[in-house]
Amino acid sequence: MTARTTLAEIVSCLSDFDPKAVPVDRAREAIERFVVPVDCVERVAIRSALDRVLARDVVSPIDVPAHDNSAMDGWAVRSADLQAGADTTLNVVGTAYAGVAFGGPVGAGEAVRVMTGAVMPAGCDTVVIQEVVRREGERIVVPPGQQAGQNRRLRGEDLTAGRAALRAGRLIRPADLGLLASLGIAEVPVQRRLRVAFFSTGDELRSIGEPLDAGCVYDSNRYTLFGMLTRLGVELVDLGVVPDSREALEAAMLAASRNADAIVSSGGVSVGEADFTREVMDRLGEVAFWTIAMRPGRPMAFGRVGDAWYFGLPGNPVAVMVTFLFFVRDALIRLSGASPRPVLALRARSVGRLRKRPGRTEYQRAVITPGADGVLEARITGSQGSGVLRSMSEANALVVLHHAQGDVADGELVDAIPFDGLI
Ligand code: AMP
Ligand code: MG
Repeated sequence: MTARTTLAEIVSCLSDFDPKAVPVDRAREAIERFVVPVDCVERVAIRSALDRVLARDVVSPIDVPAHDNSAMDGWAVRSADLQAGADTTLNVVGTAYAGVAFGGPVGAGEAVRVMTGAVMPAGCDTVVIQEVVRREGERIVVPPGQQAGQNRRLRGEDLTAGRAALRAGRLIRPADLGLLASLGIAEVPVQRRLRVAFFSTGDELRSIGEPLDAGCVYDSNRYTLFGMLTRLGVELVDLGVVPDSREALEAAMLAASRNADAIVSSGGVSVGEADFTREVMDRLGEVAFWTIAMRPGRPMAFGRVGDAWYFGLPGNPVAVMVTFLFFVRDALIRLSGASPRPVLALRARSVGRLRKRPGRTEYQRAVITPGADGVLEARITGSQGSGVLRSMSEANALVVLHHAQGDVADGELVDAIPFDGLI
């Protein structure tokens, strides 16, 4: 695992890249260019492949479905028998069930009762739904207006033998598990799980179980990080709280870089503390300190320590979550060997005015609900201080006020990213 180029080289290729005022998109771009995916393949049973990254294309060994079959309960007929403008009377010659085919070929003027999923009887090409057919003893009467080939699923229409059913790099989801099962595949090659080490920095931090001394706070970032990393399906290495000392920070960084593919820390990158972190990093690897034009978030460090990629997030609890969502999450997905799907925004009507300064991206915590007229409404959840975790806990979305955007009027439409399931 080696980086193709240095971070300094990559950043120098990005024109006008000013580390003191980095727009969100530029920071994402620099990170995207720098990270190199792991490549170490293991085979797992398909149930264990959920949320893993497929390492090789899966080629379909069979056609799915394997036979033409009925999409409805009804009657299999020969379209050539049907009269265009009048009722057609046909003789009933048998029944086909799902899994129990009708034996013989079907001749002119004949029909077979079929259930959904039954193999199309030989000679029939069309299914007429049972609701429109009149039964008269051993005959049926089919009304006019049927389309040749209707209500029939064709062999191979879902998956074709010899073609790639799933591509390498795919993050395997429930539908993919079903698809693999429909091919009769028991095991798939996946990339090994990413290992991510994480820790908090700060002399003021206390771990749960310790007395809360005057002026101290409980370390909450390690828990939000635990939650967000767990949802990404990575292996975790929790290195606890690291005091603000050069030796302790250096020891933690070394341990993290030797045991993990990526390191995520919180705190110690703000103006007052960055020098100290920078000194340690200069000895251990390559690190850039950026001031991102965003709120919450601002200071962030990014680079490499030994063989591990390093994300130094700000200390404020909401800033940790927002910077994780916009910078770390996609990078870790890339490192796992997958392509991140774009994070989708909804349009919602702002309930109340929002103050916004152009020149930075702001993320405001909000609850989105449908309004009386069906249009989504976004309500900001109280204080937007970057340390106020309650407003994050109460929210289900982040309203995105874009870089160039100014104040938002009451009732104006804004972009909002629902984050349930993302972080
Ligand atoms: P820093 O970025 O280290 O200057 O921290 C900024 C603010 O976030 C300070 O008020 C810290 O006390 C707070 N903070 C830093 N790390 C944590 C943490 N792990 N849990 C809770 N608050 C934190
Ligand atoms: Mg600190």
